[in-house]
Amino acid sequence: MRTQVAIIGAGPAGLLLAHLLHAQGVDAVVLENRTRDYVEGRVRAGVLEQITVNLMEKLGLNQRMRREGLVHTGTNLAIDGEIFRIDMEELTGGSTVMVYGQQEVMRDLFESAAERGIKIIFEAKDVQPHGVETARPYITWRQEGAEHRLDCDFIAGCDGYHGVARGAIPAHLLKTYERVYPFGWLGILADVPPANHELIYANHERGFALASMRSSTRSRYYVQCPVDENLDDWPDERFWDEVCLRLGPEVAPHVVRGPSFEKSIAPLRSFVSEPMRFGRLFLAGDAAHIVPPTGAKGMNLAVSDVIMLGEAFGDYFDSGSTAGIDHYSARALARVWKAERFSWWFTSITHQFPEMDGFARKMQVAELNYIRGSRAAQVTLAENYVGLPLQ
Ligand SMILES: Cc1cc2nc3c(=O)[nH]c(=O)nc-3n(C[C@H](O)[C@H](O)[C@H](O)COP(=O)(O)OP(=O)(O)OC[C@H]3O[C@@H](n4cnc5c(N)ncnc54)[C@H](O)[C@@H]3O)c2cc1C
Repeated sequence: MRTQVAIIGAGPAGLLLAHLLHAQGVDAVVLENRTRDYVEGRVRAGVLEQITVNLMEKLGLNQRMRREGLVHTGTNLAIDGEIFRIDMEELTGGSTVMVYGQQEVMRDLFESAAERGIKIIFEAKDVQPHGVETARPYITWRQEGAEHRLDCDFIAGCDGYHGVARGAIPAHLLKTYERVYPFGWLGILADVPPANHELIYANHERGFALASMRSSTRSRYYVQCPVDENLDDWPDERFWDEVCLRLGPEVAPHVVRGPSFEKSIAPLRSFVSEPMRFGRLFLAGDAAHIVPPTGAKGMNLAVSDVIMLGEAFGDYFDSGSTAGIDHYSARALARVWKAERFSWWFTSITHQFPEMDGFARKMQVAELNYIRGSRAAQVTLAENYVGLPLQ
């Protein structure tokens, strides 16, 4: 088999790249080691930045999103139960975010990939990139007992944090930066209306809480917890009591309780691996970087990577220009680091850290109060939250 771009991983990065390439007439094949149901069923991100919404629209993938997605013009912060709103739309001159779950995005991407004839090979085992430093890279994998090989011009490693692509870059050329946070997010999904029509990020002395949603009838709530917490210790009633306490007396009466149908603990990590290119291998999305979920940057960052990578491959196959692919790593990393900074900062002002003393807590409260009272601080938060421009 031969293609122009071989893509490893059918998550948001891999599939959006495949759609972008298809729209430019570039041939691509996606190799995914899981089933479609598994990838589509993963409960993950829920807030789309403006650039993600714009990309879905540009690719003609936005019909259901336009009907079912919730446009949010603002977001809310709470300090020990006192809430204030950040009017993102007004502060940024018109930008908003869209609440539309990653599962819904994946469903739209898979359905239209099938209609458009975009080739995705599921359950590809032992996927391995080869010859990435040569002009003739290729990928091998196993399926149903047979060995397969795909020759290509370029390989896009869109296979997430635990994938194989990053490992194809020699260790001595890779530089990684990492911060593992000493807590996780315990999250639940329940088919109950949200407590508020917009998100509420709450800093409480018992720990962070987030009131979020997937639709007007499906709520997503989180509480900060120790990373080794046992889920069995969190029956629904304990969760609802805790989240109500942390969100505070203004919000608690509006929290509609109901049975959770998903409950999990996600660890929090900041991670960047540089460079994002080696020879003919290009990394995009979680394969190259992870952010803590505070501020909802993870999936959106994968999207900005593939917009840049799609443009670079498009230019190459259109005109033979290597300027885009040569500049890809530096261009993508410039935006990645800004999103890393925002996610790290937003985490640091909203969570309780084990080493925090009274002074550190006062600093958090002072910072949140400063944001509440300063338009300049609110503009900074808002422009990062809706997503920085692509440069
Ligand atoms: C539990 C959890 C909760 C999250 N919550 C949020 C949130 O609230 N907000 C937010 O913005 N972000 C969130 N994120 C982050 C967000 O989901 C990711 O940033 C996003 O999925 C990145 O997309 P990706 O395509 O780069 O990687 P992934 O979604 O990880 O996709 C990679 C794909 O590659 C496949 N793959 C892996 N290894 C191989 C291999 N060897 N061969 C072939 N295929 C392979 C995987 O099966 C997967 O389908 C969350 C992540 C997790 C894990």
